[in-house]
Amino acid sequence: MPELPEVETIARGLHDLLVGKRCTGLHAGWKKLFEPSFAAVNRAVVGRLLTDVTRHGKYLFLEFGGFDDAGKPSRLMLHLRMTGQIFTIADFQPDKHVHARFSFGEQNIWWRDIRKFGRIALLKEGAKADPPANIGPDMLKIGFTEWLRRLSQRQAPLKNLLLNQQIASGIGNIYADEALYRAGIHPLTTPFSLQAEELKRLFQSIRHILRLAIRYQGTTFSDFVDFSGRPGNFRRRLQVYGRTNEACYRCGTPISRLKLAGRSAHFCPVCQSETTHP
Ligand SMILES: [Zn+2]
Repeated sequence: MPELPEVETIARGLHDLLVGKRCTGLHAGWKKLFEPSFAAVNRAVVGRLLTDVTRHGKYLFLEFGGFDDAGKPSRLMLHLRMTGQIFTIADFQPDKHVHARFSFGEQNIWWRDIRKFGRIALLKEGAKADPPANIGPDMLKIGFTEWLRRLSQRQAPLKNLLLNQQIASGIGNIYADEALYRAGIHPLTTPFSLQAEELKRLFQSIRHILRLAIRYQGTTFSDFVDFSGRPGNFRRRLQVYGRTNEACYRCGTPISRLKLAGRSAHFCPVCQSETTHP
């Protein structure tokens, strides 16, 4: 599943490639992909200039300027969810999983999604430039104090809280595991059992891991490829995620895995021991 670094990689790629270009066509083989409807999205983007590409958490936003004569700008929100992919390569060969194509003259954006969970939504006119109301601040933009305030209201394992997009958005399973390992914190630890400096260390670890992953253009596990079809390079930098039973790079102990809220948590039982403070 694409997380913040993968979506940021796509956003930067699309920004460099397409901002300032005019959308000349929209074609869809599966129209339920669009909200509120294909016709509404088609009307809102075809003939308009793409003026910006931004990201919030795991959401991607395409902004289109008004028509030359009249009309208000429009804003599309793209959510790749589990298996959504975006391709822009010229010789891309669409298969049966490609559901839509945006054209910008010669340049195309292909939307491919095997499991069809992804969505392309037209935001309401005048809607604030923010993602849905239940999505928290972006993990790379939120400050420590605000993050801690939102986190401390919940009594749950930290791994679950990191995945909770209402607290802060952008982290998924891979980067949650990596950040907890870097901070030396067991995934089942609750915020209440940690001291302020440990939570600060976790916050800094999350930021560090996300920024590093962006520099390496994300992690490819099964599906993620960047906008031009290249896999992300962060996979070989992973310390715990996907390394069950392999030796911890710090202490040599086999990496453990446990099931938590239906997801896997990977951790080193020695470097991330379950310590609590009285
Ligand atoms: Zn270890």
